Amino acid sequence: MTIAPQPGILNIALYQSGASSIDGVSNVLKLSSNENPLGTSPAAVEAYQRAAHQLHRYPGTDHAALRGAIGEVHGLDPERIICGVGSDEVLQFIAQAYAGPGDEVIVTQHGFSMYPILAHAVGATPVEVAERERVVDVDAILAACTDRTRIVFIANPANPTSTMIGEAETRRLAEGLPEKAVLVLDGAYAEFVEGFDGGAGLVDDYPNVVMTRTFSKIYGLGGLRIGWGYARREVIDVLNRLRQPFNLSAGQMAAAEAAVRDLAFTEKCRSENARLRHWLSEALAELGVPTDTSMANFVLARFASPAEADACDAHLKSEGLIVRQTGGYQLPQCLRITVGDEIACRRVVAAVKGFKAAQG
Ligand SMILES: *Cc1c(COP(=O)(O)O)cnc(C)c1O
Repeated sequence: MTIAPQPGILNIALYQSGASSIDGVSNVLKLSSNENPLGTSPAAVEAYQRAAHQLHRYPGTDHAALRGAIGEVHGLDPERIICGVGSDEVLQFIAQAYAGPGDEVIVTQHGFSMYPILAHAVGATPVEVAERERVVDVDAILAACTDRTRIVFIANPANPTSTMIGEAETRRLAEGLPEKAVLVLDGAYAEFVEGFDGGAGLVDDYPNVVMTRTFSKIYGLGGLRIGWGYARREVIDVLNRLRQPFNLSAGQMAAAEAAVRDLAFTEKCRSENARLRHWLSEALAELGVPTDTSMANFVLARFASPAEADACDAHLKSEGLIVRQTGGYQLPQCLRITVGDEIACRRVVAAVKGFKAAQG
């Protein structure tokens, strides 16, 4: 072959998504992608159906109604919001805009696997920084910064660890970074934390902080692909130059707007998740399977060894339960389990109990 891709592209390890079926097993329950067990707001489904009558029309390019709704609900300036095809697309704009060959992008040890993919895609070098007991380590990140650091990606709360760092720590990170580095606060799970602004306040205080959010998790719209980002106007202006004018369809925008405005549904999802997450972690702890205190809609179950985690995963599969292996996140002794509805949580606990009993 004489045609060759740009540097970095062949370094990309393809993203592994959560499985959704098991050969020969029925009544399968997918708890591997942190989807919303309560589905999505009925108002969002209705808005999406209404959009079906206008499929011959191009969508708007400025996302004004959706940005207005997000701004209203979250108390943010719509002029400083950008919408993307999932927050993944917003993260991609950030990588394209601020990093390239010769630049370094800091990711953390158990950080979301999209971050190194995005760094490689723009020819930059991902630099991995250790975490401390599955928690982002601000001192380690600051120590890893060089004059080539252009982006630091952290999710807060983090996936797959479910832990988060507090505002004082995030602030210390924003303040300590080199001037040329962008701090990306990925708030995919922010809505699960009562009273948390996802880092929006830090965006207001520091010119180099960008927050991203998604409709895929608490809003239950993973299948539709909508996310957004919040930053200084100058940053949003840069990102908008990379955005295709029609990146979001009318149906995506209509559903997302209805979803963000349905405060009652969101609140119900948040409180149900908190209740069942607590129940699930306590029940797992009683079976000798500890978890870190989760701030998200999943728990990271820790086993005695990678072999035990694998064996438990196989047992869960045989019972029709799909959870996420985390070996690729340097957590081979763990399994990430999405907090499902009450029946799902009970099935998980019963299956882990059966597994432990069979082990003797
Ligand atoms: C699920 C998730 C996202 C969301 O991605 P979308 O492209 O919006 O579906 C982003 N970051 C993290 C850490 C996630 O777990």
